[in-house]
Amino acid sequence: MITVQLKPKKEESLQRFHPWVFSGAIQRIEGNPAEGDLVEVLDSNRNFLAVGHYQIGSISVRVISFDKIEIDSAFWTKKIQNAYTMRQSLGLIKHGFNNTYRLIHGEGDSLPGLIVDIYDDTAVMQAHSIGMHETRQILAKAIVANVPEVKNVYYKSETTLPFKAAIEPEDGYLIGNETLNLTALENGLLFHVDWLKGQKTGFFVDQRENRSLLERYSAGKSVLNMFCYTGGFSVYALRGGAKLVHSVDSSAKAIDLTDKNVAINYPNDIRHKSFAEDAFKYLNNLQTLDQKYDLIILDPPAFAKHREALRNALKGYKRLNAKAFEQIKPGGILFTFSCSQVVSKDQFRLAVFSAAAESKRNVRILHQLSQPADHPINIYHPEGEYLKGLVLWVE
Ligand code: SAH
Repeated sequence: MITVQLKPKKEESLQRFHPWVFSGAIQRIEGNPAEGDLVEVLDSNRNFLAVGHYQIGSISVRVISFDKIEIDSAFWTKKIQNAYTMRQSLGLIKHGFNNTYRLIHGEGDSLPGLIVDIYDDTAVMQAHSIGMHETRQILAKAIVANVPEVKNVYYKSETTLPFKAAIEPEDGYLIGNETLNLTALENGLLFHVDWLKGQKTGFFVDQRENRSLLERYSAGKSVLNMFCYTGGFSVYALRGGAKLVHSVDSSAKAIDLTDKNVAINYPNDIRHKSFAEDAFKYLNNLQTLDQKYDLIILDPPAFAKHREALRNALKGYKRLNAKAFEQIKPGGILFTFSCSQVVSKDQFRLAVFSAAAESKRNVRILHQLSQPADHPINIYHPEGEYLKGLVLWVE
């Protein structure tokens, strides 16, 4: 096998099971690997450390096994079975109540570069590395063979594969074909999920638990759901007994989707209104109208996708939260999130803290939210913690 030998003392992070090898740690590579090839990682004395997928970039190897074993279809099958067993024992798959969950969460499931979300009988698979792209057929077969509910596997990697690779992935069904039923069931609520054209795998599965929490606080409240996309939070607020729900997104397609999702759960419900508008513009307008809400949700897209963008992202979070503090009624509740991986929990909290201080209002933290159990964080890979949220009581 192709070997990647590390410089002296560079084996320490792998010995602590961190799954990445950075290019700067490498002494020499024997065998001229192509991107996506399996390689064996050795310490400076040529002792075995791990097996992983080789890639071009600052991360050179993403480890898929710390044991010296054959990476064959039995290996991949075992990984899929492990992931499924965990979701099953967490009680996430409940017939007639919930068929939407994440089956594979990259490093969190010891499968760096692979994301798989399940919507009813369809698995949507996303590769973030060439190694996983090349394993896609084996993985698809293993998913269908080991996840009893799944009949179709849709592959969606056009936008997630590293651009350096000279391959042109095509989105499409690896197994099965388009089902007529493009709806998913989450905690008893129905959602149209467009995995063909939607963002990510079509739905933000990671907010499931946080949407449930919001439902508990919605009774009798006027709710503003900013950056609503599929309207997930809005539908939960309606079920929770909100007296009014306003959903805002700058994308007209997102607003259509929100309206459809409200309609299949609560047809002709006059409590809901949606607005295709920029978030900042909408909040500024409220100021002139002097309209305020009991409960506001801020779930913006990642403001920083790279480390260089961090400073501006933190300013963005501060500005957005400051606007929300202005538009929330006394005794109101703010659900505020960041899904930027490069923004730490503390940095996000500081941005929200600064916004609160600017508003001069008395603010208490009720909950500190994170990602749900089907988006687990590998304890050896803290970088996997990306979703951060605060629920605040605003006097
Ligand atoms: N809360 C959603 C996920 C939000 S994804 C859920 O639970 O599913 C982020 C959304 O923000 C996208 O739909 C995107 O269209 C929208 N968006 C991005 N920039 C925006 C802006 N400046 N104003 C309003 N919406 C914006």
